[in-house]
Amino acid sequence: MATSWIALSGHTPLGLWGWGAAAGIAWLAYWARALSPSGAWAAWVVGGVLLGWGGWAWGVVLLAFFVSSSALSRWAQARRHAGIEKFAKGSRRDAGQVLANGGWPTLVVIARALGWLDPAQAWLLGTAALAAANADTWATEIGVFHPRPRWLLVGRPVAPGTSGGMSSWGTLAAVLGAAWIAAWAVALAPMGAAWPLGLAVGTGGIVGAGVDSLLGATLQGMYYCPTCRKETEQHPIHRTCGTATQWRRGWRWMTNDVVNALAIASAMLWAWGMGHFLWSGSIANAALAALGGPCSRSTSPGPPRTQAGRLAGTPRGGSSHGEPRFRLRRLADR
Ligand SMILES: [Zn+2]
Repeated sequence: MATSWIALSGHTPLGLWGWGAAAGIAWLAYWARALSPSGAWAAWVVGGVLLGWGGWAWGVVLLAFFVSSSALSRWAQARRHAGIEKFAKGSRRDAGQVLANGGWPTLVVIARALGWLDPAQAWLLGTAALAAANADTWATEIGVFHPRPRWLLVGRPVAPGTSGGMSSWGTLAAVLGAAWIAAWAVALAPMGAAWPLGLAVGTGGIVGAGVDSLLGATLQGMYYCPTCRKETEQHPIHRTCGTATQWRRGWRWMTNDVVNALAIASAMLWAWGMGHFLWSGSIANAALAALGGPCSRSTSPGPPRTQAGRLAGTPRGGSSHGEPRFRLRRLADR
């Protein structure tokens, strides 16, 4: 059952239906002013690869991210006040933003199509990337309304919306945003092992949002508008007033989009490491055995493979006791 949709999506010739659906969604998002023209083209490519080459489950998770984040941005923009001009961009996503958030999952699906990743590995990495993108977007949109955010490194109060600022609201939103994608990842997973997958993807998203804040507080290029007397990410001009902005701190090439891409990469690394940790067999099976799961010796003959074992590469009918594996099982072997 679990492999059927992968098999189907893999056989769709060039995934033309997916590219068509992605074009429709991108046009709709452009029409709804969620995307700029360049953002709509980029979204078509990202959506086309994920839907057309990845399959409908990839498209659903992408939409879970895109629709919730766009709706939240829309809602937040309606309630925006002066403190939010720090953001380099408005609520319409341009190509840079789309690729900073959707570029990694796109590469993951391409790697899967080329056979460099198996479906389980690709799903783990891709959904972790989307969890991080979602966590960061939710945290940014919600956290900005906190009246007294604090700077991440020192804890001194900063103006709402400052990159590197952190608040309880933003942190909670990051956790919820990561959990939202993790839930979809588990529900549509091409493999078993629901709880390790949910844990790896959910914590990956939170780690990504944390790295985003950390980079925003340290290395991200920040500028100053002498007219508005405000710190801003915008360069070379402050769009609200047209004044040339002056460099204040950070690396100039470390724009908000670069920070996003790096934060999402860190989420994928985290999820990858955690997936191997949880699916190495020994730890997950020990936990399941302690809980009297199907793998515990006393309760066999149950199903020979536990959920963890299925991912840990246990041969059909075998036992994974004492033989940790460090590679997710190829679903094609089933
Ligand atoms: Zn200004």
